[in-house]
Amino acid sequence: GNDNGQWILPFESGHAGMKELLGGKGANLAEMTKAGLPVPPGFTITTQACRAYYEAGGRLPDGLMGETAKAIEELARKQGKTFGDPAAPLLVSVRSGSVHSMPGMMDTILNVGLNDETVRGFAESTGDARFAYDCYRRLIQMFGNVVFGIEPIRFERLLHETKEKHGAANDRDVPAEGWIELAARYKELIASKGGKPFPQRPDEQIELAVEAVFRSWNNPRAIVYRKVNRIPDHQGTAVNVQAMVFGNKGDDCGTGVVFTRNPSTGEKKLFGEYLTNAQGEDVVAGVRTPLPIAELERDMPDVYDELRRTAEKLERHYRDMQDIEFTVEHGRLYLLQTRTGKRSAQAAMKISVDLVDEGLLTREEAVARIETGHLDQLLHPAIPADAKLDVLATGLPASPGAATGEAVFDADTAEERARAGRRVILVRAETTPEDIHGVLAAEGVLTSRGGMTSHAAVVARGMGKPCVCGCEEARIDAEARELRVGGAVIREGDAVSIDGSTGRVIRGEVPLRAGELSPELARLLGWADGIRELRVAANADNPADAAKAREFGAEGIGLCRTEHMFLAPDRLPAVREMILAETREERERALAKLLPMQQGDFDGMFRAMDGLPVTIRLLDPPLHEFLPNADELRQRAAELSDAIARSADEAQAEPLRGDLAELETMLRKVRSLHEANPMLGQRGCRLGVLFPEIYDMQTEAVFRAALDCMRDGVVVLPEVMVPLVGHVNELRFLRERIDRTAERVLGADAAKCRYKVGTMIEVPRAALTAAQIAECADFFSFGTNDLTQMTYGCSRDDAEGKFLTHYVDQKLLPANPFQTLDRDGVGRLIEWALRDGKPVRPDLKAGVCGEHGGDPQSIAFCHAIGLDYVSCSPYRIPLARIAAAQARL
Ligand code: PEP
Ligand code: MG
Repeated sequence: GNDNGQWILPFESGHAGMKELLGGKGANLAEMTKAGLPVPPGFTITTQACRAYYEAGGRLPDGLMGETAKAIEELARKQGKTFGDPAAPLLVSVRSGSVHSMPGMMDTILNVGLNDETVRGFAESTGDARFAYDCYRRLIQMFGNVVFGIEPIRFERLLHETKEKHGAANDRDVPAEGWIELAARYKELIASKGGKPFPQRPDEQIELAVEAVFRSWNNPRAIVYRKVNRIPDHQGTAVNVQAMVFGNKGDDCGTGVVFTRNPSTGEKKLFGEYLTNAQGEDVVAGVRTPLPIAELERDMPDVYDELRRTAEKLERHYRDMQDIEFTVEHGRLYLLQTRTGKRSAQAAMKISVDLVDEGLLTREEAVARIETGHLDQLLHPAIPADAKLDVLATGLPASPGAATGEAVFDADTAEERARAGRRVILVRAETTPEDIHGVLAAEGVLTSRGGMTSHAAVVARGMGKPCVCGCEEARIDAEARELRVGGAVIREGDAVSIDGSTGRVIRGEVPLRAGELSPELARLLGWADGIRELRVAANADNPADAAKAREFGAEGIGLCRTEHMFLAPDRLPAVREMILAETREERERALAKLLPMQQGDFDGMFRAMDGLPVTIRLLDPPLHEFLPNADELRQRAAELSDAIARSADEAQAEPLRGDLAELETMLRKVRSLHEANPMLGQRGCRLGVLFPEIYDMQTEAVFRAALDCMRDGVVVLPEVMVPLVGHVNELRFLRERIDRTAERVLGADAAKCRYKVGTMIEVPRAALTAAQIAECADFFSFGTNDLTQMTYGCSRDDAEGKFLTHYVDQKLLPANPFQTLDRDGVGRLIEWALRDGKPVRPDLKAGVCGEHGGDPQSIAFCHAIGLDYVSCSPYRIPLARIAAAQARL
């Protein structure tokens, strides 16, 4: 409640801090009004009223319409008009405005207050019947769609017929009689399809419009949008009722959208689009392709100048790039809306850095503001500069990054095929908010119509999907499912690529190259490094990834999974030989073949990480993972038996018999290794205990490589890590062997090599007995993948597909625990292990190396409980550096 009533606040009484109550748009309109900017007067019906509407099962709360009527009276008084006055009526817009921006997802109605009577007065008072009836038919059209739920296509058909009848190519060529006729036909359409006539009473129009906006909070596309963007469902939307200003009263009128900086590149220059003689949604709806804002400078230099100055004022006021909707009525500028502009990841970085340089932000604020999701995109794929491309056309570069996939022509197909694991590019003549699920499913989006600020372009940018829009050379036929451009035809399923950074549309598949650190991001990362306490290491198991990780700022390798080295095709035969060995001697012979290969691997890692620690984890997975699958083997054995039976003589059968014997040995081994729960079976340190010679070989390779590197002047900090320890005795047994091998291999240089031996903590028992385990471990590395699996008792390989996703959808779980660390369960085990482990060994180094090491929320937790580091995949290193800094801010 407030002085003005329970449900309503006039713009002049609110401010930017009231987003929860007034929605983003309402709060900003209030703030702009307060700052003395040219905003048409109005008021906001609060989100509280919307919630009350839903709580009452879809009934407008008592008193709301009474308060609204009073506020409109007041509004009319300010404008020197009367609502419903047949002579000179006040017209208003009724717009949605939620707490979080949901561009285009909810409904808006303009020109409310026109009816058969007032439209005549409106025509007279403006001296423009054509204009007045155009406004009227637009009102009826929006009303029919939004309030009565009649499909837009029905109105468009009638509009088309009217244009044909009057020989009008464009809307602006339709004469007054055309609009008069069309308004009448629209009313008939509503009466026949909407169940009741178009309401003539302005107060009834308002009531229905307000209710429709409330209802639009729960339309399907808004629900999907909220889900994707994690916006709570209970908030509800505010409704802004505002005096209309008109951009469609002639050629000295117009409407547009500007960003105070370029939302794709971040360049500090007004960026946007406008249409002359157009109203409201024409620009953003992507129906007519608008003109670049630079042309406004030519057409209406004074207006442009005022717009530029206003934009600067708004940026200083909000200390951020703004997205402004404006209308020009007879040369006079009005601001309809401002909000923080959505921007590409690349632009976000540039703008933040520039705002710091301009003195508008501190470095800490700039770092705090970074959306970590943007970092993913920056490192997004691009087309290599030297790639040979069959460029078909160039559209507008609406959202950066490149994408390649099969062309699909509707959102449902996009979703279907993506679900089947295929990469698709959504190709549409124009994108509308109804396409959102298709945009979500696609690798990228291509449209032939609509500008850089069309809704779906904005949505694509927000999702970090590459998007090329307004590619007018392309003729896109959704019904025929084909795209024609130049002489080329791309049909559904054909490969097509887009480059959202340049606007290029390319025939066929294109190899993509990974993204890179921009200079702006490098500066932000530098600032973040000055703030954060957590160190950031990489999970990498080959020298190339290690080098990439270092480029991204990794401070070492936190996890090198040696099994990945075993899986290389040139290694696999020796690995199998080792597994199939019946005796220790045979096994050692096979291991001797592997030793030099492993040594080479580690050598490369150490050199790439010169001066930084490299944590090498000894072999972890169950051995059957290195052997062929049993069914396949059985199949091949049956085929061989057949061949033997069919062979003409013994000479032919003999070699086949040999092959069969070999196969059968393999099959026996595979059978003997079979386990019902391999992830809980013979893996990790249990392998090391059963076959110590495997770990001996790996340890020997580590220290031989270390020695070679040291002799070349490389600073080597090896950390040997034992996986899956559950009992201290396992670690004690293995650590003794590791220390002995190190001593033997390093010999006289032992003192110069500061190596560590530590363990993963990934079995709950290890966490619970951390005090004992710390006696044998120089470091703890929390393997939160396995630790989550075992704490939750959920298979990390199957649970997501079987039930976890369902749990998350049903909100039984706040998040997928394999993505975001479960603080209450797994997190408490980690805290326990730290609290019990540290006192035993004060210099115990501790970190997380599961997938959670690259998740911002989990990183915040790691910081909060005093871990020393997180380790994540190379491409997440920049994100982890930022998230670690944000955790301190
Ligand atoms: C873990 O379990 O968290 C871990 C890092 O090891 P892996 O994923 O290789 O099992
Ligand atoms: Mg593990």
